[in-house]
Amino acid sequence: MKYVVVTSGVVSGLGNGVAASSIGAVLKACGLRVTFIEIDPYLNTDSRTMSPSEDGEVFVLDDGSEVGIDLANYERFLDVELTGDNNITAGKIYQHVLDKERRGGYLGKTVQVIPHITDAIQEWIERVALIPVDGREGRPEVCIVELGGTIGDIESRPFMEALSQFSYRAEDNNFCLVHVSLVPVIDIVGEQKTKPTQCSVQSLRELGLKPNLLACRSTTPLNKNVKEKLSQSCHVPDNCIISLNNVPNIWHVPSLLIDQKCHEAILGILGLARLTVEPKLYVWMDIARTCDQLHAPVRIAVVGKYTNVSNAYQSILEAMLHASVVCQRRLVVDWVPASDLDIETANESPDLHEKAWGLLKGADGVLAPGGFGHGGVGGKILAVKYARENNVPYLGICLGMQVAIIEFARSVLGLKDANSTEFDAGTRYPCLIEMPEVTMCVGSRRTFFRTMDCKSAKLYGSVNYRDERHRRRYEVNPDMVGELESAGVEFVGTDETGDRMEILELPWHPYFVGVQFHPEFRSRPGKPSPLFTGLIAASSGLLDAGVLQSPAGLENGNGPVPMKVASGASGSGYANASGLEEGLLGLHVSGAALAH
Ligand code: GLN
Repeated sequence: MKYVVVTSGVVSGLGNGVAASSIGAVLKACGLRVTFIEIDPYLNTDSRTMSPSEDGEVFVLDDGSEVGIDLANYERFLDVELTGDNNITAGKIYQHVLDKERRGGYLGKTVQVIPHITDAIQEWIERVALIPVDGREGRPEVCIVELGGTIGDIESRPFMEALSQFSYRAEDNNFCLVHVSLVPVIDIVGEQKTKPTQCSVQSLRELGLKPNLLACRSTTPLNKNVKEKLSQSCHVPDNCIISLNNVPNIWHVPSLLIDQKCHEAILGILGLARLTVEPKLYVWMDIARTCDQLHAPVRIAVVGKYTNVSNAYQSILEAMLHASVVCQRRLVVDWVPASDLDIETANESPDLHEKAWGLLKGADGVLAPGGFGHGGVGGKILAVKYARENNVPYLGICLGMQVAIIEFARSVLGLKDANSTEFDAGTRYPCLIEMPEVTMCVGSRRTFFRTMDCKSAKLYGSVNYRDERHRRRYEVNPDMVGELESAGVEFVGTDETGDRMEILELPWHPYFVGVQFHPEFRSRPGKPSPLFTGLIAASSGLLDAGVLQSPAGLENGNGPVPMKVASGASGSGYANASGLEEGLLGLHVSGAALAH
């Protein structure tokens, strides 16, 4: 087994997840079978109880594991399905070691960080690296191990020690360390500064690790003299010093690596140079370039609780991008803080209230993401009412579907106090109730279509069922389904019992879809989630013009295949709420990426 370990230094938020995933994509393009392990050095056992304001969104895997966004990046970049074991946290390792201690598994020994925690880390990596993630039999050939956090963090010390022992134990040509660092430009003449990287490599060496490659985040490609200086001071050959300079969107990163022959350097170190083929990334490059050339905008208002937190809705953003590339629209996202839509904000901060309503009314489509707790729910209900009454395309995800039910019950059924018991335990009209199982429903579940004569079934390619990932506790109250249906809500998808409502539509509306699952978690570049394609197409006036009518364009229920973009079009990936155009996922060195 060959290991590529990716560490990161100087500051957090450099995009080492994107770097690690792109290395994976490039090695896969070289014909290798690649797997991935993410190490999060924090003590939480997983992301279940973490707020999106801590570490970005909580991403859900098929097996119900709740993890951070780097596993999400990896799944999307390599189109694979990972499991909870592909994510190591300090909490998991300690739990494992402490459980073994309770069972008497250490035979009377004093249990210590070295060797017991460090051994457990190495054993975990060696065990999980052998499990295939690409749906094929047999072992992967390369395992990418990404160490989260920044070199020098106290939390990551045991992991650094474990990796250092691991590199010492690994046979020649089995271990390659890529260190992602920062080369900032701080003076007015634009000189690229190497000192932060030098210091970071020094810390790495003190911890017993020697980088084979340096991947340097920078605004522009590294100058030749800067590479020479880094090479000399960090003892890394200059063909192994890679510029991770700003690119218009993250899908360019794999070709950025290939252009600098990063794959040759890694394969050389791993002793695989002669076994592999020249990497071909035509599909990637096509998507990356198409995204840059999109011109006609589509504006989507995302009405959420964490709209000021970067990465809190990362998979939603990515799924909208995947869909907008297919629909050939330049995605413009207006992040609308849900609570600003509320009447209370109108009294306290009229400017914020006016701004939020301005964004909502200026949008071509509205998306209400998932969420927990009552924060912003009032504003979400107002947003869904606006979308329903004004025929604005709406996609409600989990909580977004639940607020649509509350709004409908209140406005159309006239049940003024209708609510979810999550927000009002004693409500007279509980239209959403805790599922009898009570524990969180999390992971992949099957939704069956009740009819093919609905937008979602057609978008999914007229399949009978679809597996999607869930993360929720509440469901539509079965006792209120009949009343909601007789007033016009169509529940077009249910679970296998037929009693639990999973998808709702308003048939007379151009596009009003609510789902209890999270379709964003399975969206991939080139294979957008069909319901996101529906939202973007409807918001661009394209839904009737072809997306629903051309099931031939739907590949395995995964959505239409990308179309060619007219040459000469200009514009780029997406613009944020302020209208500023940005790269994706903080690949810019300035602003949000550094602030993270
Ligand atoms: N809080 C709601 C529930 O638990 C919605 C969850 C979500 O949006 N993921 O059912």
